[in-house]
Formats: sequence, C-alpha cells, structure tokens
Amino acid sequence: MIFLNKFSRRILCLLLIILCSATFLSGCIKQISGTELILGTIVNIQLYGKGSQENLEEALNAAMNRARTLEHIFSVNNEGSELNYVNQNASKEPVSVSEDLYKVLERSLHYANLTKGAFDPTLGKLISLWGIGTDHAIVPTDEDLLPFIGKSNYKHVILDPATHTVYFENDTFFLDLGAIAKGYIADEIKTLLQQNYNITNAIINLGGNVITIGGNPNGDPWKIGIANPDAPEDSAAPAVIAHVNGKTLVTSGDYQRFFEDETGMKYHHILDGQTGYPANTGLKSVSIITEASMDADALSTAVFVLGYDNGLALIESLDGIEAVFINENNQVTCTSGLDSTITSGVLPLN
Ligand code: AMP
Ligand code: MG
Repeated sequence: MIFLNKFSRRILCLLLIILCSATFLSGCIKQISGTELILGTIVNIQLYGKGSQENLEEALNAAMNRARTLEHIFSVNNEGSELNYVNQNASKEPVSVSEDLYKVLERSLHYANLTKGAFDPTLGKLISLWGIGTDHAIVPTDEDLLPFIGKSNYKHVILDPATHTVYFENDTFFLDLGAIAKGYIADEIKTLLQQNYNITNAIINLGGNVITIGGNPNGDPWKIGIANPDAPEDSAAPAVIAHVNGKTLVTSGDYQRFFEDETGMKYHHILDGQTGYPANTGLKSVSIITEASMDADALSTAVFVLGYDNGLALIESLDGIEAVFINENNQVTCTSGLDSTITSGVLPLN
C-alpha cells in the first residue's frame, strides 16, 4: 500500500480534478446560433453538438447556404428563380426542373388533391392580384377576381417522373409555393445537419416554421410557443406552449401577414381559391405538429382554409399528424394525440 503525505494527496486531488474537467469538457455539448433574413423571413438556427466548435460553425454556414440556395429556387419574388422560369415557360412546353423543385411540386399536388384545393399551389395570379405583404396590396373588385375563382388549376399541372418535367395545361395560372417551401427548406436543413455534421440537438426557426433535432440539451423537450393571435409579437407570452422533441411545429395564422383598407377592415394572406377572398372560417390560427415540416406547412395552410370541422376530420384521419386550433373567440382545441404535449400559456386549453 502506498501512503501519500498531505502534500502529495493535494497534488493527486488537483490532478484528478483537472482530468475530470478535461473529460467533461471534451464530452460536453457546445452551442452556436445564427440569424439571417432569407425568403423574406428571419431564419434563426441554434445548434448543439459534441464535436468541435469548428464543426458547429461549418454546420451553421452550410445550413444558411442551403437555405439561400433553396430560396433561389422557390422564391416567386425573385425574378431569376427557377420557379419563375417554370411559371414563364411551362404552359408552352414541359420544363425540366431540379430535384428540389420536383419534390416540392409532387408533394404540393398531393396536398392539393387531398384537400380538394384548400391548399392550392396554382393560386399565384390571385395572390399577386391581392399583393398582401407587398407595398401595393389592394382589395380587388369582384370583376377582377372572377377569372381566378373556383378554377382548381392544380388539376392542370402535369408532372412527369420519368423526365422530371412540369407542364401547365393552360396559361391562365402560375405557381406560388409560399405555403410549402419553407417547410421543405426546414426539412432539408435538418437532414443536412444530422447527416453531415452529427448535430444531436437543434432548433431551427424559419419565421415561425419551427423544426427540431432531438430535445433541449438539458434533457427536456423544446418548449415552442404558439403565438397569441391578439399579441403575436409578444413571444414571451404565447397562447399555448408545445413540448416538442425531434418534430416540427408550423403555424398558419391570420395575424402573420395582412393589410388594412381605409375603413380599417383587415385582409390576411391565406386565400380561399373558391371565393377569391382571404379564408374566413372562424379560425385565427392552425398549428401542425408532425415529423416532416413540408407536410406541416402544407397542412397548416389547408386546414386554415378548410375550417375547424373539416380540418379536424382531415388531421384525425392522418397518422402521426396533430393540430392545435385557435378560433375567433380565442378558444384553443387540439387533436386527440396531443394531450400531454401542450400546456397553456396566456390562453386556457379547452
Ligand atoms: P402559410 O403562411 O404557410 O399558410 O402560407 C401562406 C402563403 O401561401 C401566402 O402568403 C401565399 O403566398 C400562399 N397561399 C395563400 N393561400 C394559399 C392557399 N390556399 N394554398 C396555397 N398557398 C396559398
Ligand atoms: Mg403553409
């Protein structure tokens, strides 16, 4: 047996402390975050991982770059975007498109069919006529709206999986993917971070379109606030809080983008292709919680247009997809699978 004097014992203790700290630090989770304006929204990414700080920095840069590349494909406001090229040419002949655009078009048509046009990627002309969210928003006359109402033009978008082409059967419409593209971008960022950078925990927020990897590194799920429609800017006082682990939460709400006419009447940005007007079904917001953000994005828009009864029936019929509704009386309701995942904020849960 070795007997250590007091001094040696102190040195040994110190060495042990240093060794333990080094082990702890090398296994300890590091963090990085960044914010940029992409696709007209604030993109905030927070990453956590066990690798080096350089790995986290590379991961953050790669994620922002991927978002910018995809913005250049999907933006209808960007003259040189791939989507605008398709809009200008696909009624003349089939246009061959990138894999990213093809995937989003395929899923868009799936949801347009599933929701009978409540989600409709072919409302581009109607959306630009209203101009909501731009500096030239107007309330169109009934005469202006007539050519765009009840057309279901999504039935006239022809995709060919063999050639990856898209063709419009007539030239009366163009595509707007504003209700689904952010979801796809969120999914792509998540895949990139997991596959190429071993990110174990992350929260990615594309202007309210939130996707997560794992939970909070402290072991809890991420707490994501669903905005109070009457005070959406007050992020410290959300309507309800969703506890999310590895899933996405996407909200469509009438407060997110709107304009007021001279009489004070508000017109929001989610349009009903059957009436030509902003959807008016008694809901202030719909949030979807599921695995894929592209699904959540398309469905939050669709359910907002469908309204509570039809929207609830649709979501209950789909596996692994849940919804939170806030109606015009600020009543909050959820689908059956959400019970323990949602806690009340400033609004009570029904
Ligand atoms: P979101 O915020 O995801 O609900 O998407 C709203 C955006 O999608 C709008 O700003 C329009 O660009 C577009 N949009 C509006 N109404 C619809 C609709 N019924 N179906 C598909 N896209 C729509
Ligand atoms: Mg959407």
